[in-house]
Amino acid sequence: MRVCPAQGPSPPPPGEELRLPPALALSRLDGALLGGFRFQCRPGCGLCCFAEPAVTSEERQRLVQIEPDLEFVEGERGWAFLAARPNGGACELLSENRCRAHGGRPTPCQQFPVTVHVSDRAQASLVLSCPGLDPSGLLRWSAGPPTAQAPVGLAAELAAAEAEWVRSGTERELDRHAVKRGRSLSAAGVTGLRAALHRELPWPEPTDFPSEDPPDAEDGFEELPITFVGAHGRVAFGSHPGGWMLLAISEAGDEPKTLGVVPPPTSPPPLTTAGEQLVRAYLHYLVERDDAIDGVFAQGGPEGPVTDAVAADLVRTAATVLSRASVLQRLDGREEPLDAADIWDGIRATDAEWLDRPTTGRRF
Ligand code: SF4
Ligand code: SF4
Repeated sequence: MRVCPAQGPSPPPPGEELRLPPALALSRLDGALLGGFRFQCRPGCGLCCFAEPAVTSEERQRLVQIEPDLEFVEGERGWAFLAARPNGGACELLSENRCRAHGGRPTPCQQFPVTVHVSDRAQASLVLSCPGLDPSGLLRWSAGPPTAQAPVGLAAELAAAEAEWVRSGTERELDRHAVKRGRSLSAAGVTGLRAALHRELPWPEPTDFPSEDPPDAEDGFEELPITFVGAHGRVAFGSHPGGWMLLAISEAGDEPKTLGVVPPPTSPPPLTTAGEQLVRAYLHYLVERDDAIDGVFAQGGPEGPVTDAVAADLVRTAATVLSRASVLQRLDGREEPLDAADIWDGIRATDAEWLDRPTTGRRF
């Protein structure tokens, strides 16, 4: 399994400074992947606050003035994170789905669901796990890259991401993304790779099922993938001898409640036409996300051709989306071909895991 990006970047070797290429230092973010999406934060969700967001020293000082007893987790290279409650619970500042420091919240929280990945450009993308985003923005991709369109409702989040990039991006952003640097492809190579993948979109085969199990809850509830389900709130996936265990995670960090154990599909689940269209749209979108290509360069790079490695990652992601969509549908007491709404549930349950530290904190 590809290492979950939420585990964070490896520090550079001692003495090695992180520097951006001069051409990137003051460039603006590339926001093409935001086009056509509409965003409105969903009341009662709070999903992005089940996290330990990174804080700068200035933000830390501001937060302790609001809440003197706040706890922080000290990370490597001077990074600090706002502590979350136990049992996979929310950040300590969340109370009844509201941030007690909303006006002074850290930058990763201000820019969510916008996330920035740095390679040979700084590319803004969206954490599609956020239920405040609508699937129509993604559906535009069902036949490949769509025409340019402005996003709706993301101005403040994009402005926060751009301000962060201009203010401290050079050192801090590169530090965030150091794990995936080292891409050895030229710009022309990346363009050719993308064209090939769009032309022949990778698709999971029966042998790709069952898809990979989620982590074991014994390793800590905070390690589990988490999603928002209207009927249950925050739901985490954990592995279990009988299938996948679905757990309701509470804001306060109470012991999670088991909602059920559902075996993942052992062959590709049937899809409606609209369901298949949305899976295809997601894969086309991932082909254009720099994060998805750079992911194969983590841990020393691919052993074989880069195109095969990216295609294999896309297939694994698609199999996970289909499996999580199917498991969530059966948790709901249904068992029918997966339609676009089911697939959107599966994408939301999967996307954050494949992103490069979407809020520079744990999980989200
Ligand atoms: S995950 Fe999205 S919808 Fe939910 S609280 Fe965060 S920004 Fe709002
Ligand atoms: S600080 Fe960030 S993660 Fe914590 S409650 Fe506020 S918005 Fe949520």
